[in-house]
Amino acid sequence: MHLKCVECGKEYPMDEVRYTCDCGGLLEAVIDLDKVEDVFDGRDITLWKYQSFIPVKKRISLKEGGTPLYRVRKIEHVAVMRELYVKNEGANPTGSFKDRGMTVAISKALELGMKKVICASTGNTAASMAAYASAAGMESYVIIPEGKIALGKLTQAMIYGAKILPIKGNFDDALNLVMKASSEMGIYLINSINPFRLEGQKTIAFEIYDALGYVPDNIVLPVGNAGNISAIWKGFRELRDAGFIEHLPRMIGIQAQGAAPLASAWKEKRDYSPQPSPETVATAIRIGNPVNWKKAWRAVKESGGFLETVSDEEILMAQKLLATKEGIFVEPASAASLAGLLKLREQGEISGGESTVLITTGHGLKDPEIVVRIIKIPEAIEATEEMIFEVLR
Ligand SMILES: [Zn+2]
Repeated sequence: MHLKCVECGKEYPMDEVRYTCDCGGLLEAVIDLDKVEDVFDGRDITLWKYQSFIPVKKRISLKEGGTPLYRVRKIEHVAVMRELYVKNEGANPTGSFKDRGMTVAISKALELGMKKVICASTGNTAASMAAYASAAGMESYVIIPEGKIALGKLTQAMIYGAKILPIKGNFDDALNLVMKASSEMGIYLINSINPFRLEGQKTIAFEIYDALGYVPDNIVLPVGNAGNISAIWKGFRELRDAGFIEHLPRMIGIQAQGAAPLASAWKEKRDYSPQPSPETVATAIRIGNPVNWKKAWRAVKESGGFLETVSDEEILMAQKLLATKEGIFVEPASAASLAGLLKLREQGEISGGESTVLITTGHGLKDPEIVVRIIKIPEAIEATEEMIFEVLR
């Protein structure tokens, strides 16, 4: 097993602290697929069940993965579809899919003898990194855009013991600073440019195949920094290359209209360019320059998928629909996947006969301010039977 540049193909050993190629290209872990184990029996699904696919020896785990895959029959009805599932990543230990990448990246940090870790974050990465760093006995540092982080996530990062450094800038500024700090100060970089993060996240593909026993036609998910779509695609490709599956799903990425550098380039059939000052209620995907955009573009293209945008209004409607119809409360960014699906059904780009899995990436309680803004908390009434009976009648 080794790391390989996705641009020029240059190879590096796994035990070198390195995030990008000398040419500047992103690195990807190459797994020995002739040595992986067939564990896909549908039973006892957890992330580390697939350890033969994961290129680390140590293990810092909070029992991540094994998240529920719900058949959402009421929404199937709304969307007029034969088969629709939600893979609810909010059920991970810190409430988001980031825990998958973190268990692997922090395990790698330990293996490499690192004492400190750092990331730039819109929130979920910070919360997750802080939890795993404390489990591993490491110090963690988070650079965040001032005032742009959901309260639930900031609270998490702080209680797990991370040092928080707010900056007067956006996520992309934060990421640039973190990359400089890691290369010049020897602090391990945990952002999804770190190839080991994607090695954990790819297990979403394994779990879907393991649970269903087959590969669905479509995977629909929100796209922010674009690591997850690349990672899940890598997971499915490895399943195919190892000979477990033949059919691959279409990868369909959804971005918020106000933060859609990839989706707008895709739809306008032009080259990618970063988007200055991204804006959306879906804070977890408020990113104007996704670090993994090239890998994501490749995933979408190779899989025969596409990218779509949804408005904030559509996102908030989908969030409510998931909660009220199916009992699944997700953060706004996660609801982008359902909002996207409904739009694509309307446009006929996904047919009703296809099987689809929506990925919801984070728990709704991560970002309660948005919900509080759109719902009205009822006023108190007198504590009498008459009043209560009156209301309940
Ligand atoms: Zn290269």
